[in-house]
Amino acid sequence: MSGKSGLPMNLDEFIREMQRRQWVLWGSREGRHVFICRHDNCPSSVVVLDDKMGKSALARPCKLPHTDPIADQAVVNYHSLVEILRRRRQELGLSQDDVEYAAGLSIDHIGKAESGERSLTLPTFTAWANTLGFDFRLAPAPVPDQVIKVIQAKAGNTMKVPLD
Ligand SMILES: [Zn+2]
Repeated sequence: MSGKSGLPMNLDEFIREMQRRQWVLWGSREGRHVFICRHDNCPSSVVVLDDKMGKSALARPCKLPHTDPIADQAVVNYHSLVEILRRRRQELGLSQDDVEYAAGLSIDHIGKAESGERSLTLPTFTAWANTLGFDFRLAPAPVPDQVIKVIQAKAGNTMKVPLD
């Protein structure tokens, strides 16, 4: 025994610790345990041998860019929209050039949009967002009070119209 694996762990404990590091047990065979990264479409895997199972065999979380869909985010203004797209590009490990190429946009569009130097048209914005795994949609939200008042006032006016 070299002792390089640190304190031995049992399989359950080891799996739990690996899960905390975002690795999921994919299969075990003949003393070899294969863990895969839990993120969508990620090709990373780690093989751990039974007799090496210990603290020092625990893998660090995968560092590859991950493409999992992200949660809905409210866009409160133009700046926050640009910021969401910039962050997403970085999470995916893409350069501005990569995104321009993939979106079919000409050079400098993304750089200038991200820096606020240039405002984009909606079709360009849509191409940019689609490339990063977003689509544009209008989400339902409550109709504001002032609009409800207008609707009620109009209904009231209609009812006040004298009948012949
Ligand atoms: Zn991964």
